[in-house]
Amino acid sequence: MPVSQKSLLESVPTGLYIDGRWRDSSDGATVAVEDPATGRPLLHVADATPADGLAALDAAVAAQADWAATAPRDRGEILRAAYELITERTEEFALLMTLEMGKPLAEARGEVVYGSEFFRWFSEEAVRISGRWSTAPNGATRLMTMKQPVGPVLMITPWNFPLAMGTRKIGPAIAAGCTMVVKPATQTPLTMLALAALLEEVGVPKGVVNVVTTTRTAELCEPLIRDPRLRKLTFTGSTPVGRMLVEQSAEQLLRVSMELGGNAPFLVFADADVDRAVEGAMLAKMRNIGEACTAANRFYVHESVAEEFSAKFAERMGAMTMGKGTKKGVTVGPLIDARAVEKVTELLDDAVSKGARVVTGGQPHKGAGHFFQPTVLTDVPTSARLQKEEIFGPVAPITTFTDDDEAVRMANDTEFGLVAYLFTRDLSRAVTVSERLEYGMVGVNQGVVSNPAAPFGGVKASGYGREGGFEGIEEYLETKYVGLAL
Ligand code: NAD
Repeated sequence: MPVSQKSLLESVPTGLYIDGRWRDSSDGATVAVEDPATGRPLLHVADATPADGLAALDAAVAAQADWAATAPRDRGEILRAAYELITERTEEFALLMTLEMGKPLAEARGEVVYGSEFFRWFSEEAVRISGRWSTAPNGATRLMTMKQPVGPVLMITPWNFPLAMGTRKIGPAIAAGCTMVVKPATQTPLTMLALAALLEEVGVPKGVVNVVTTTRTAELCEPLIRDPRLRKLTFTGSTPVGRMLVEQSAEQLLRVSMELGGNAPFLVFADADVDRAVEGAMLAKMRNIGEACTAANRFYVHESVAEEFSAKFAERMGAMTMGKGTKKGVTVGPLIDARAVEKVTELLDDAVSKGARVVTGGQPHKGAGHFFQPTVLTDVPTSARLQKEEIFGPVAPITTFTDDDEAVRMANDTEFGLVAYLFTRDLSRAVTVSERLEYGMVGVNQGVVSNPAAPFGGVKASGYGREGGFEGIEEYLETKYVGLAL
């Protein structure tokens, strides 16, 4: 059933969700949430004060012991019910994400599936938390290890995947028995508020999930990070902010997970199926309008197939339809804000001034909204800034290589290490190159690697910790050892 924008926006709660209650900010402040396709406000939501942040932590601390003692099956079933209700409300969640973030509706529906699957996966993991029992080597004592919830967690999420970046933290935390304070990105709070309402509806007890929306981000978060009652910080966002938060978390020696920026290389070897590589490139580059930490940022193509790959890729990029994400047939939505368009333009101009050639696109859109054309660049020198920095937009720079060693060297020549993609029909090359890539994830012959059943995360300046898979729940568990003398 089609969903009306008006009734959807009327149904979204706009307050803070603290201790099972919806309330205004303590100083009554609100902040506008903008539609990036028009620049116009959609709704106003509460703008939390630092005192509201502390109230949310108080609620999470108060709820922790009872939540940890709740049967794993009950925690799992709440997640399962939430998974089912999100699925039932796919159209509502998809439209909300398109409105506040800009991605085309079809992609937003894809995120509803991806995001809700974390709840399904972790509903199944809640009952598999277990420990170990062994006899000490000298036979004198027994060694028991158990897993316990780490405790109250602060979750800070970015704007690019408003649902999934939340569910892949909230899902394992609920499954593990942790309570939480969630601070969504200022640009896209609506999806998280709708999710909080849904979690309330399926019976998450008061105080377990608290959501605070704020523009006073640093003032609200820092005192929580320095509060000894907080036991874990999990952050998804940019590397500079992540670094700062790690420094703040050193005071309490907090458990920390950091899902930070990327600079993904996309390698096309001479033996690749070029059409398949182009298909993969479209996904790796254009999913989420290029605004993904996993977005292919640098294309390295073997010189023997570079011309064919570049021509076919540019043709597909040039044929995309740009517009408001809610419009039928649109495949490229707006970037998140004016600053994003400026940054993409700046990086493109820098590359062109250093000798790169624009094959297709290359221009921001002049009218309302924050649009930038899908762009392919060839002959991009390694000195161009976009070889080092996250573009976070629809620009694909292509460089050629001559052998595997050069491809691997260029791919690893970055401070980041989130994901790399490679296309080849040679199994042994796929394995050996995967082993040599300094990345947390590698996609072989595919342009999307994210999967709720697999460990997502990076190395180097892309951070540490894993979300999803068996590893995802470990981030929210402590190991306790009990020695038993019989
Ligand atoms: P950002 O770092 O600006 O913001 C992320 C979150 O941190 C937001 O909620 C923001 O309000 C908050 N924040 C900002 N300053 C803060 C401070 N001083 N104290 C506490 N919180 C603060 O990033 P963004 O622009 O929202 O997101 C884009 C970035 O996120 C990109 O670098 C992208 O690669 C990265 N990202 C990484 C992953 C991953 O899993 N590795 C996934 C998605 C996005």
